Amino acid sequence: MTESLCGNCSVCCKIPSIPEINKPSNTWCHHYAKRVGCSIYQDRPQVCRDFKCYWLQGVLAGYSKNRTGPRPDKSKVFVLEFERDGRVVIQLIAYSPLHPRALEAPGYKNWIKSALDAGSVVETIKILGTGQWQKAVLDKRPG
Ligand code: SF4
Ligand code: SF4
Repeated sequence: MTESLCGNCSVCCKIPSIPEINKPSNTWCHHYAKRVGCSIYQDRPQVCRDFKCYWLQGVLAGYSKNRTGPRPDKSKVFVLEFERDGRVVIQLIAYSPLHPRALEAPGYKNWIKSALDAGSVVETIKILGTGQWQKAVLDKRPG
């Protein structure tokens, strides 16, 4: 959580793993308090100060909402981008078992296509009610 643009969204305090503070994925950070947010906001670790999710990076860079989708607490989709073996990997995580079709919202299909055309690997992930992750890997390049 870094910006006033984050509003009430605290998805990044739950969904990603944050090894620097020993936070596993899909688990609330123990510093997170309901209706309060980060209980150590003024003293939060640097990794949290620096973090900007894909949505926030897009908004700060002036991308249109269509490119980045709605804020993660509203879209129920959290997007991570990182490098693996020299390739850009984009993970779209439909993190709410109550909204298993979140990735079917308008925009994602074209957006995924452009990411694949640009040579990225795209991983779509659904977090199921059981806590298990259902993952599909999309890659246009021949293996
Ligand atoms: S997930 Fe993105 S928008 Fe939500 S609190 Fe984290 S950085 Fe802000
Ligand atoms: S320390 Fe605060 S900002 Fe960082 S993950 Fe935990 S609750 Fe979120």
